[in-house]
This record gives sequence, C-alpha cells and structure tokens, in this order.
Amino acid sequence: MIIRKSPSELAKMRQSGMLVWRILDELTKLVEPGVTTLDLETVAEQRIKEAGARAAFKGYYVPAAGRRFPCVLCTSINQEVVHGVPSAKRVLCDGDIVKVDIGVQLDGYYGDSATTIPVGEVAEETLRLMAVTKQSLELAIEQMVAGRRLFDVCGTVERHVTSNGFTVVREFVGHGIGKKLHEEPHVPNYVDPKLSNPRLREGMVLAVEPMVSAGKPDTKVLSDRWTAVTSDGSKAAHYEHCVAVTSNGPWVLTRP
Ligand code: MG
Ligand code: MG
Repeated sequence: MIIRKSPSELAKMRQSGMLVWRILDELTKLVEPGVTTLDLETVAEQRIKEAGARAAFKGYYVPAAGRRFPCVLCTSINQEVVHGVPSAKRVLCDGDIVKVDIGVQLDGYYGDSATTIPVGEVAEETLRLMAVTKQSLELAIEQMVAGRRLFDVCGTVERHVTSNGFTVVREFVGHGIGKKLHEEPHVPNYVDPKLSNPRLREGMVLAVEPMVSAGKPDTKVLSDRWTAVTSDGSKAAHYEHCVAVTSNGPWVLTRP
C-alpha cells in the first residue's frame, strides 16, 4: 500500500529534506583532491547530531548483506554506483567523481538525497554522464503530478538516459518514503512491466534516484559486501530527491 501524507506530515518531511540538503551542500563545497570519504562522513555525522536528527543508514539492516550499514553516508567513487563505505583510506583524487548519499530521520520522518560531486578537473564525458543523469531526475520530477502514473516517472528517466547513450542500473531502485526510509512503491529507473503502475495522487512522496552507467548497466557487489560497482568498470552517476505530489504540482522536499 502506498501511504499518502497529510499537509502536516509533508511539513515534517520538508524539515528532514532540508537537513539533508544543507549537509549535501556543505559536503559538495568540501570536496577537493586530498579529502577522504571519512572526512565527509565525520562532518555529516556531526551535523545530524547538531540538528537532533538520527542517521537513517547507520545501523540500517540490509538483508542482502546480512548485516547493518556502518556509516551515515554512502560514498561511492567513479565505477562504484552505490553503498560505498566511507574510509580514511579512500582519498579523493583529481578527475574522480564521488556519489554522496545521505538519509536522516527527524521528528519521525525520513529525508533521503544523493548527489554526484566532481573532484578537481573531470573529463568531458564524465561531466556529460553527470549532466544527463541530473536532467533525467529533473524530467522525472516534472512527471510527479496527480493523475499521472508511476511508469511516467520511471520511463522518463529510462528514455532520457538511453537516448543519450548511457544505461540505467537495474539492481537498485528508488522508493516511497515517509515514516519509513523505504516504503511502497518501488521506483525503478526503467519501466518494469512486472510491477503495478499506480496513479500518482496528492500526498504521495517518492525518492526518485536515477543511477546511470556510462557503459553496461550490470553491477556486482565487492568483497566488502557493500560497495556496488559497474561490472565493466564504467563510471556511474547518481542523483536523488524526495518529491511530493501536491495540488500545486511536484514539491521537491530535499532542496530549497
Ligand atoms: Mg539515498
Ligand atoms: Mg533512496
């Protein structure tokens, strides 16, 4: 069942959404060659604590991994798609891209957002990968209108990505969000005819999160049992926003 949120619930989700935006904004400005992914984790954890919030990912039980995620951020570099674990050993280098994904729970409601940050000078084709992925999210957000259907959102991402020569990752998908980090429905970045195609209604909130490979879409999980990488070593980009369907159209909760 897709849980619709009342205006007062959306107001709370706005607060958690703005907290993740502020932290991602600060981390984006901190990223430069020589910074480690643990440096980013340390800042994020401090900000969550100061806000009186709780980190959504740290301690989150992941059945596929059979254990709890150890950090407040997922930091995934270059061919790593998602779920990279922050570490003092992971030093960001000129030309890298780092995906930073953060979730918080504040006043009972979750916020979840991700961005892809360039480190120093990044290759032209990598910048294009980032731009196309970000555009696919923006186009999907425009579909978050009452009366449209879930597949309008999913198909919009897929069409924009594939028409630009990239591929969407299939093993990881977006999701409903609210009092739980992951609620119904699944929000794949492609049309999955095995899923139902519900109509979007006021009060629905989806975390829409295109994960895009510059090469083949297949992924595998590294021996750390967390980090998902593209199987062919292609670079990957990831952007995520929580978006509410309202009578005034799409409301992106995770940015000003
Ligand atoms: Mg996320
Ligand atoms: Mg998410």
